[in-house]
Amino acid sequence: MNDYLSGLKEGRLKLHSLEKEMPPKDAVAVRRAFIEMETGKKLDKIGDFTINIDRAAEKNCENMIGAVQVPVGIAGKLKVNGEYADDEFYIPLATTEGALVASINRGCKAITLAGGADVRIQRDGMTRAPVFAAKNVVQATEAARWIEENITLLKEIAETTTSHGKLLDIRCFVTGTNLHARIEFFTGDAMGMNMVTIASEKVAAKIQEETGVVLVALSGNMCTDKKPSAINVILGRGKTVVAGVFLPDDLIKSTFKTDSKTMAEVNMKKNLVGSARAVSLGFNSHAANVIAAVFLACGQDPAHVVEGSNTITTVEQAEGGVYVSVTLPSLQVGTVGGGTGLDTQREALNLLGCAGGGETSGANSRKFAEIIAAAVLAGELSLIGALGAGHLARAHKQLGR
Ligand code: NAP
Repeated sequence: MNDYLSGLKEGRLKLHSLEKEMPPKDAVAVRRAFIEMETGKKLDKIGDFTINIDRAAEKNCENMIGAVQVPVGIAGKLKVNGEYADDEFYIPLATTEGALVASINRGCKAITLAGGADVRIQRDGMTRAPVFAAKNVVQATEAARWIEENITLLKEIAETTTSHGKLLDIRCFVTGTNLHARIEFFTGDAMGMNMVTIASEKVAAKIQEETGVVLVALSGNMCTDKKPSAINVILGRGKTVVAGVFLPDDLIKSTFKTDSKTMAEVNMKKNLVGSARAVSLGFNSHAANVIAAVFLACGQDPAHVVEGSNTITTVEQAEGGVYVSVTLPSLQVGTVGGGTGLDTQREALNLLGCAGGGETSGANSRKFAEIIAAAVLAGELSLIGALGAGHLARAHKQLGR
């Protein structure tokens, strides 16, 4: 150990290339010891974890020194009546926000007692939008036309890079001399960002070659990855999912201690009027809370909570009760790739019966998306119900937060 530490200190060894000198397990320990030595701060808790180091250090995290732990709670059972998820599920939620799991759990109970959440996927496509520079607006427009007339050729080129990915569409946007080509792919059970980036590189090279426009950036931000954007709300990104449930009056009273009129009013004043006045892209109560907790537990890319936060919640009074829905225009999830292979995250996905590739490509990631949408519905119901009954402050106080 001391040799390695002095090697790092003297610059003979590089912190980021320790895995070339020794097995990942030792590299992580040496790196952590070096950081402790340099800073005088103990990192023994970060150094105490169960996930497989070989995989994590190779595929998920450079300069690895350990892992942090986040408590995981369970909500449910939650009955989901989806086309891919048709069962009752225990939902794993990784969070440090007290009262969150209890709140979602209450929503799960109401949904399950009401017969389950109906869930449908409207659209399934991950996007990448390279930006090209043209000499003038004529060249930009001609290049856009060439792309739109040659989608079949570009599809063939894209699909040489992947066995699961399928190019679905390319939409072009000309802005002066800038051409953005928003390429959409079906990505099977993978969330798909790496897959579509690799495929888009080949597509972009062909576009350059044929049209003379010059690739400036493989991601030109019209994708739009990890930023709030109207384009993802309108056109979708990842999976566009809608979930709904009818709650009868007696169930609203017994579970939420409120009534359908109050719930509809809370939703209108808060989620619709309040969000409109704030010009928010999220017309919901706290969809991001549920999405973040499931994403952390199940190895999703946590930055994609941004896109998940643009959920729209509706609450409409109906004969004898209320119909509540959530629409998630851009839910980006995968059950293979990224963080889904880490031991603890894979266990959480397995709990939902959707770890790894599905029986047909995409079936597992769609099942997972349907479960998340139903869980978001549970979270929305519970918070709207709590606000309706004036219970929010009391719940937080009782649960010590
Ligand atoms: P990935 O880790 O690259 O996994 C996809 C791979 O899994 C492909 O090689 C695919 O093979 C294979 N695969 C096996 N079974 C599959 C199945 N049933 N369905 C689909 N693919 C299957 O994952 P990714 O989802 O493309 O990318 C996720 C990672 O990208 C995350 O770690 C995320 O943080 C990161 N990310 C990257 C970017 C970027 O710009 N590169 C941006 C944001 C996030 P085939 O391709 O041969 O089908």
